[in-house]
Amino acid sequence: MPKPNMLLHNVSLKPYNTFGINVNALLFMEIDNNTTLEEVLYSKQYPDPLIIGGGSNILFTKDVERLVIHLNTKGIEILSKTPNHAKVKVQAGEVWHDFVCWAIAHDLGGIENLSLIPGNVGTAPIQNIGAYGVELKDVFVSCQALDLKENRQVTFKKEDCSFGYRDSVFKRNKGRYIITSVILKLTTKDHYKNISYGAIQSKLREKGINDPSIQQISNAVISIRQSKLPDPKILGNGGSFFKNPVVSMNQFRDLQEQYPDMPHYSFGENQIKIPAGWLIEQCGYKGKRFQEVGVHKNQALVLVNYGNAKGEQLWELAQKIQKSVQNKFNIYIEPEVNIY
Ligand code: FAD
Ligand code: NAP
Repeated sequence: MPKPNMLLHNVSLKPYNTFGINVNALLFMEIDNNTTLEEVLYSKQYPDPLIIGGGSNILFTKDVERLVIHLNTKGIEILSKTPNHAKVKVQAGEVWHDFVCWAIAHDLGGIENLSLIPGNVGTAPIQNIGAYGVELKDVFVSCQALDLKENRQVTFKKEDCSFGYRDSVFKRNKGRYIITSVILKLTTKDHYKNISYGAIQSKLREKGINDPSIQQISNAVISIRQSKLPDPKILGNGGSFFKNPVVSMNQFRDLQEQYPDMPHYSFGENQIKIPAGWLIEQCGYKGKRFQEVGVHKNQALVLVNYGNAKGEQLWELAQKIQKSVQNKFNIYIEPEVNIY
């Protein structure tokens, strides 16, 4: 671990991204407090700094010729409690899954389905993290951010964030807002439990659980994820490389005529979400290896680094997959991972 709040030169980012890509940052700083963060960012000494948290949604394709800040601010505080809810403020550098475990240990519900998602709390609003039918926006109250364009602190309430499917105002204005803390509203009793996803239902059934606690839901999610997804510590990856595409009902009906087995889920009014993993699998990529890069054998949405891959090789594979899906289904699949 580098000394916090000190400027370092030519630092390898390999330990800071879950793909395990070995690129260098020209300048690097680990920051553990918001005062230093503000000073460094507002000074404008380092143009266009790149903030990283857990590095689990980033693909580096080249060295980073600017300041990289690894945000490591810590702190969890219960702001208020009513009979049904608690408002909790969390600093951006807290690890998301550690926070989920903290919440469950305090019998606070609402984020158990988001167990084991890598990355930090401050990054969670950026793509409105989601899994197993729950999204961050379901529990989000507000966040504090530094606006690098206006050099000031801003509070974003939920309605200011334009949360969408793996999307938000922060993702659409990349680099402008640096999130420093997040406030979430969690349930203290009568937890609303979302067990709509088939995999969770099967896991609970297998364990003979009818009315699961939030801890049991979390355990089920952890167990499913561990059995299906590659652990980045063992096989470099960035989770789902692409977002699931959403198409119009008309386009879906045409596709369904040709591909009657195409899995699909309704998405808002008159729209259909199609699992990108299935599209990629149909193009023959599942489990395929191309030298140092490949497509995971259990989930075609996950691209992997077999050890010594360069970011460009993964990006080339991703583009090849995009083209194949476009040619076969006439569907554009958009990367979810941030490419640098
Ligand atoms: P980073 O990769 O460090 O950063 C991502 C982007 O946010 C970058 O553009 C970065 O510059 C910017 N950024 C980082 N911190 C800040 C900040 N404080 N303020 C402003 N910008 C910032 N995602 C899901 O939604 N659901 C899942 O189920 C899921 N499962 C995953 C499973 C695996 C195995 C992996 C590797 C990834 C998975 N992801 C999932 C993706 C990823 O975990 C999330 O997107 C996570 O929120 C990224 O957090 P991070 O701190 O690692 O972000
Ligand atoms: P899965 O269960 O194999 O399902 C494939 C896709 O179908 C998922 O992406 C999911 O969309 C959709 N789906 C399945 N059941 C659904 C339902 N009942 N209602 C609506 N949509 C449904 O998926 P998986 O790959 O194992 O992932 C499980 C969950 O973890 C998903 O929610 C997924 O998003 C999340 N996850 C995300 C990442 C990431 O990096 N973003 C990585 C791993 C897992 P949604 O993705 O919209 O939920």
